[in-house]
Amino acid sequence: MTTTSPELPTAPGKRSLSLYILGTQSDLHSERGVECPGDLPPASDPGLVERARRAKEALGSRVFVLGHHYQRDEVIQFADVTGDSFKLAKDAAARPDAEYIVFCGVHFMAESADILTAPEQKVILPDLAAGCSMADMARLAQVEDAWDTLADAGIADVTVPVTYMNSSADIKAFCGRNGGVVCTSSNAQAVLEWAFRRGQKVLFLPDQHLGRNTAVLQLGLGLDDCVVYDPRRPGGGVSPEQLRAATMILWKGHCSVHGRFTPEAVDEVRGRIPGVQVMVHPECQHEVVLKADQIGSTEFIIRTIEQAPAGSSWAIGTELNLVKRLAANHPDKQISFLEQHVCYCATMNRIDLPHLVWALESLVAGEVVNQITVDAETERYAKEALQRMLDLPGETSRD
Ligand code: SF4
Repeated sequence: MTTTSPELPTAPGKRSLSLYILGTQSDLHSERGVECPGDLPPASDPGLVERARRAKEALGSRVFVLGHHYQRDEVIQFADVTGDSFKLAKDAAARPDAEYIVFCGVHFMAESADILTAPEQKVILPDLAAGCSMADMARLAQVEDAWDTLADAGIADVTVPVTYMNSSADIKAFCGRNGGVVCTSSNAQAVLEWAFRRGQKVLFLPDQHLGRNTAVLQLGLGLDDCVVYDPRRPGGGVSPEQLRAATMILWKGHCSVHGRFTPEAVDEVRGRIPGVQVMVHPECQHEVVLKADQIGSTEFIIRTIEQAPAGSSWAIGTELNLVKRLAANHPDKQISFLEQHVCYCATMNRIDLPHLVWALESLVAGEVVNQITVDAETERYAKEALQRMLDLPGETSRD
């Protein structure tokens, strides 16, 4: 793996983003650098479009470019397929002929693609700084400490660890080793129902909001059935009695984008746009989700807008690139971003045209840059956790 940066021109006045601007390990309200005035970052040098096109053409079917829905338009235009993280990993697995998988997304997604593709296929992340603050909020050592805490409380053997797709490969492997499973935002209900058939409690990693929203709104648990385990506090900041009394043990993690939408923004948009329907992602805080008209995964949001009648009005609480793209693609509907003070995902947007061109041109020159590899042991157990999810009825057709 190399950390070399591309030496390619960027647009005049382009802001450079620092590497670690998000609040890894911190409380939502202490995060810095995640506000923006509702605009996307400036486009890169348009002269790079032709270079990207030529490099991709030269590689032909040897390269398969994946584009997550939250990527910039300048990158999405070169994607062979777009989707959410799990769909993209499955799409990559369905292309065993492609020598190189260029993943325009974030680090944990490239890891998942490496796990699900053949050993000889090389997965490339155009910028290694494209991480995910949510995934970084659950480190393996912290999760192992938490499991010890659960064992000390006498509940580890009745607890099933469930991790959201948005987690590192070693957290997925931890779940695989301990009888647990992976979930996506589309199938969290079915996965939790599976988990509760096997254990009395769930340790849900790393997004407390998806865990709470699914447990309360879809499984009918109460808020007081949930406790939040804070890995930065001794014993998780909860007593053994609280752990023993809880049904859902929620890891204290969140998305630095979705976690920032507020209930006040829902009230504000309803006052401003008569008849507006509010649709949010389940990574949003519970108080926001309670006020929304529709809740669903990225794929659900796209499908809902596609099927919405002309003239309908929507305020959407998900990543800004996707909302702006939906608005541009559906001019017959009024589509707005739910909250003006929430930023695009800064790490997703690390992948830009200069990095994509650098990755593709390096491949043309015979050099594999920024390859993401998961070691064999981690891959084996992570695959077990993923397979348990895939084995759920109807799972292969679910988005
Ligand atoms: S939108 Fe949130 S969960 Fe997705 S990559 Fe960005 S920080 Fe991570």
